[in-house]
Amino acid sequence: MPKSLISSVPVLMYHHISPVDGAHTVSPDMFHKHLSILRERDIRILSIDEFSCWREGKLDIRQPSVLLTFDDAWLDNWVYAFPILQEFQANAIFFVVTSWPGDGKVRDHLLQEEAWEPKSHTVSMELAGTGRGDEVSMRWSELIAARDTGLVGIGCHSNTHGRWWNEGSSWAENLVGLKNDLEASRRAMKDKIGVCPIHWCWPKGLFSNRAFELASEYGFTSQFSTLRGSNSAGRKKLVRRFGVENKPPTWLEKRISVYGDPLLGGALGLIHQQLQGGRMAKRFKFASPGEFEFPLFKLI
Ligand SMILES: [Zn+2]
Repeated sequence: MPKSLISSVPVLMYHHISPVDGAHTVSPDMFHKHLSILRERDIRILSIDEFSCWREGKLDIRQPSVLLTFDDAWLDNWVYAFPILQEFQANAIFFVVTSWPGDGKVRDHLLQEEAWEPKSHTVSMELAGTGRGDEVSMRWSELIAARDTGLVGIGCHSNTHGRWWNEGSSWAENLVGLKNDLEASRRAMKDKIGVCPIHWCWPKGLFSNRAFELASEYGFTSQFSTLRGSNSAGRKKLVRRFGVENKPPTWLEKRISVYGDPLLGGALGLIHQQLQGGRMAKRFKFASPGEFEFPLFKLI
């Protein structure tokens, strides 16, 4: 009896994998446990290409599956997460803020010689935002080395981590800021890794209908949000995710079972996008409320 087709793939969102406690951080030990439970439960970890092919209807999936995503491509992903991904031969996609990585050589995973101290999310953001990205972000050479193992895909997480949305004196000016960022991101990707990916991740999860369309026009036809919910097969461009917390595997299993259920995950997704849409509308200066109305979110 063949297994039936999978109708939803939960997408997991990690940021830091680090022994330093704090926001957006899962400890290396807990991350190891997360991958262990996925293996024990026979849950497949898709590559970004498999996920894309499934979404486009070009690949049938019959085994419960997930996608692992890492936002910001922090150096701790290279030091702690990547060796664990290798141990499990697990796929993932790293989303890079293109103005942050340095150009130096590949650093040792353990960084013993350089006596590197992992940094909290707050400190990492401060350093990256003040021109010291090389101290806290993966380098281009490291991203390429990770990609070349075949385990890691590279996606784009903007050029500046989203300062564009409030910097102009009108909505039109803010959109010009976004265009500039999209162009700079594309250029950096082509320069540094030779190709611009189609996968875009919205910084801080903030976007609007027009922002979504603009990113699509710039070739980012697969856009990762922080809207929770299920992801069904089909040509939808918006990917829904849930943030993984530093909690035991039982916590993770429950979320995977909820967002793997298209009905339950879909319903929770609709509620969450109502709440998030209201929050986004407050964060964007000058945008009309229509930018955050939901019928369009349903279509994308
Ligand atoms: Zn981010």
